[in-house]
Order: sequence, then C-alpha cells, then structure tokens
Amino acid sequence: MGRRFDGLPIRDELRNFEPYGAPQLDVPVLLNVNENPYPPSEATVADITASVAEAARGLNRYPDREFLALRADLAAYLGRESGARLTAEQVWAANGSNEVMLHLLQAFGGPGRTALSFAPTYSMYPEYARDTNTGWVVGRRSEDFTLDQSKALAAISRHRPSVVLLASPNNPTGTALPIQLVEALAARTAGIGAVLVVDEAYAEFRRAGTPSAVTLLPSYPNLAVARTTSKAFALAGARVGYLAASKQLVDALRIVRLPYHLSAVTQAVARAALRHSDELLARVGQLRAERDETVDWLRAQGLRAVDSDANFVLFGTFRDRHAVWQALLDDGVLIRETGPDGWLRVSIGTGAEMAAFRASLEKVLKTDGGRQS
Ligand SMILES: *Cc1c(COP(=O)(O)O)cnc(C)c1O
Repeated sequence: MGRRFDGLPIRDELRNFEPYGAPQLDVPVLLNVNENPYPPSEATVADITASVAEAARGLNRYPDREFLALRADLAAYLGRESGARLTAEQVWAANGSNEVMLHLLQAFGGPGRTALSFAPTYSMYPEYARDTNTGWVVGRRSEDFTLDQSKALAAISRHRPSVVLLASPNNPTGTALPIQLVEALAARTAGIGAVLVVDEAYAEFRRAGTPSAVTLLPSYPNLAVARTTSKAFALAGARVGYLAASKQLVDALRIVRLPYHLSAVTQAVARAALRHSDELLARVGQLRAERDETVDWLRAQGLRAVDSDANFVLFGTFRDRHAVWQALLDDGVLIRETGPDGWLRVSIGTGAEMAAFRASLEKVLKTDGGRQS
C-alpha cells in the first residue's frame, strides 16, 4: 500500500484509495447492483439498433453539444412520471447520474467549500467531494434510517455547506424522505445560498403517496433532482443519467461539462429507449410487489428488513455478514455487502432469482454462519 504510485505526482488524498465498485462476478443470480433484471424487448432492441445505425452515418461529426432534443424528451418523460411541467432548458444529462452529480460538485463545490450528506447513504458522494477538492461533512440518519428534520436543519446551519446531497429513496436503506422534509431543507439551503441535490435514482419504485421532489422545482431555483435510466428504466448499460432544476442551475452545469460529453450514439440510444418507456417500465409494478413480499419473507425468518421504496431491501443483522454473503455466493447468488455493520442488501430480481435467493438464505440461516446479532 502506498508504494504503487511511486514516482508519480498523485494527489495525496488519492494515494490510499482503491477504484470504487461492486465486484463484477460471473454467477447465475446477480442481485448486487440494483439493475432491472428484465432486458429490453426485441421491439425496443430493433428501434435502438436502427437509431444507432442512423447516428453511425454521421459519426465523422461531433454530436449536438446541447442535445436539446434528448433534453426535451426527458422533460416530457419526467412530466408524465411525476406531473411536473418542465422545459428542455431545465433538464441536464450525462453519462450516468454519477456524472451529473459530479458536474454539480464541479460547479458548486471546490476548495474552501463543503458538501453535506447524511449516512448511511450512497458511497459515491464522498468520492465526488474528494475528486473536486470539496470538504466533506456527513451527519447521521436516525436508528430507523429516517432523517430527523431539526437535526438536518441544524447541521446545515452549522456547517454552511454549498451543496447538500440527499438520496430519496436512499441507497442502501431504501428509505424515501417525506416531501415536507425535502421542502424544509430546500428552503433552508436557499436561505444560505446553497444547492440541494435530491438523488431520485430509485424514484419510479417509490410507494404511493410519496411525491417526487420535481414538484418543488417551481419554488426552489437552488434545487436539483437527479434521476437515472440505470434502475427502473432498465438501461444501466447505456449510461444515461439526468436531472431537473431551474434553467439558471442547468446553465451553471453547462460551464463545467466537457464539450460533447454525451456521444451521438448515447443520445440516439436514449431517445429510442424513451420512445419505449412504457414497456421498459412495465415490470416496475411487479418488482415492487416482489420487493414487498421479500420484506415480509425476511421478517418471517426472524430477520430485520427495512421498509423499502426502491428495488432492493436492506436486511440483517448478522454477526458475520461476510460469511452470509460468501455462503450465498457459493450457491451462485451475488448480493451486496454494504450498509452499516451486520446488514446486507439484496436487489429485487425475477421471481426465479428471488426463489434462488430465498432457498440459499434459508440454508445459511440453519448454519452457524447465519447467526444473527
Ligand atoms: C445506482 C445509483 C445511482 C445511479 O448511477 P448511474 O450513474 O446513473 O448509473 C445514483 N444514485 C444512487 C443513490 C444510486 O444507487
């Protein structure tokens, strides 16, 4: 450790890191990175293929740098999904919502500034801060993984961040934030001239009665709501994330993006996929039902399982979670060792995949390795 960059002027704060990412293993049942388990239909594949062929004929030219056609399509989709009225200028996109959020930190973070979030939450947030030389402060969620409003407001007043990052539904806990809480934080951040980022990567899986933060955009020009096509939308391989915000906020992101960051091929794939959004999202209801059944089943085994508004469930707690993770992997079921000590996270797969998960876990629970804490 520490030797491998010898002779290279790597930044001190990067020296001791490993590249981030979940293990990519070739096993039959992949329940570790919250993908949609259902591939696109042949009709969608055919439309994507034809659109890519058309784009290929123009690949000698740089792509449309402002990709306003795609932004208009995304605005229309978000309008249908969450009932908000948005223009193309209020939408931004990049190679995954990870890149969208990096743009946010590049524009609104930086040396001498602070980003604030509340753990346990998405493990990439501190990396965006590190990579942009932004200070990183992390508060705590409550024992049940909800966020205490007065504590969150106090943390904002105390640390005076320029960016607050909140995932709702949260990863890895699955917990959605009440819209009143999001609005209170939007108001407080506006009051200190900060940006509030609500990461809604799992929004399409939320339970009824939880409005999207997109509905708050008309009142809060400092609010950015990040979304992705990687989860419910079944398009993780295409790398398309986006956000909705005020036009001013989006204009700030246009300053920091690299020119032509979204390739003509990516734009073509995304636009073709959006024409099939109903089909790509068709399984969301089924995945939600499977999720709720998974929570019930885990509890029936005497385990703890956190109520989820996403396509995964955090469950535990185990004395040795690594042993449980390994035992499942030995059966060809890959889940994720993440979250607070003792907990594990399982993504919701097909009915057959969930049956394999249950069979394997049932077996482990009967052994010493499955002891609970
Ligand atoms: C998966 C995930 C993302 C999405 O990442 P992409 O770069 O769009 O694939 C963003 N935020 C959270 C909390 C996630 O879990």
